[in-house]
Amino acid sequence: MKTVIINAPRELLIKDVDIPKPGPDDVLVRVRASGICGSDVHRYLGTAFGRTWKYPMNSGHEYCGEVVEIGKNVKRFREGDHATLGVAWPQGYLGAFSEYVLIPNADERLYQVPKEVSFIEGACLEPFTVALQACRRPNPTSEDKVLILGAGAIGLSVLWACKARGVQNIIVSEISDKRRGVAEQIGCRAVNPAAEDLAEIVMDATGGQGADVAFECAGTGATLNQAFALTNRWGRISLIAHYRQEPPFSVETIARGGKSVYGPFSPGPTVEEAIQLVAEKKVDLTSMVSHTFPLEKAQQAFEVACDAAQSVKVLFVP
Ligand SMILES: [Zn+2]
Repeated sequence: MKTVIINAPRELLIKDVDIPKPGPDDVLVRVRASGICGSDVHRYLGTAFGRTWKYPMNSGHEYCGEVVEIGKNVKRFREGDHATLGVAWPQGYLGAFSEYVLIPNADERLYQVPKEVSFIEGACLEPFTVALQACRRPNPTSEDKVLILGAGAIGLSVLWACKARGVQNIIVSEISDKRRGVAEQIGCRAVNPAAEDLAEIVMDATGGQGADVAFECAGTGATLNQAFALTNRWGRISLIAHYRQEPPFSVETIARGGKSVYGPFSPGPTVEEAIQLVAEKKVDLTSMVSHTFPLEKAQQAFEVACDAAQSVKVLFVP
């Protein structure tokens, strides 16, 4: 089977390898769609965050596929089931940038996807799950005014998650026209901070108080500082992005403000929640898919994924 190896920063190899053989607790999934995550882009570019993994490596954890082989102890899956999550590439298995992926301990790690959810939607379930998790503790309600910084796949997933919670007042800040257009279509006020005064717009929309909740999904020093400057006295701030460089930020900002700051993860079974919202058509994750490529075009796919001006979510369709 074909698999994509990140050999070194910006250097990919497409290799022919044996299809993995599932052990008694494992399942083999034929990958039908797999998404390039922001974290994969970091690994591809070799940023400080990306280099916390060792080259050469395979990667890819956002996928959906079809169960083709099942270990004898596996109880929850049958051949032909659609499934997602559970890749273990950091533990030395191949990831989802491959034609097939082996999921160890599948009963614990793999999730069943109902057939009314397409493979493309299924591949977007992971970032959407991250967004649902990131919403749990700052807990935006329909009364809250929400600011989302960055409209990549995570920012847009947060936008969908907020809409599913009934949040009415959402401002999304994004410099890419392409991504801003998608955000607008999903439904929000989309601001170009390079051309408009974001601070003024947020303050006007919130009676001079600042947003109740901010989601930092862009990963720049400017957006990190905006998340604090543009939230109100008791603002809740969710930091989801990874940073290409350590951002300039004064910790005093936290000590002096009355704000609460959260990381993206929280306990609770959100994968099922994500699957349900997609299956019920309450969210349309295909809205954020801008490109699909075969594995053979991996280099082009990654280059496109690096370019926020032209892409949102880039998927492989092996
Ligand atoms: Zn991801």
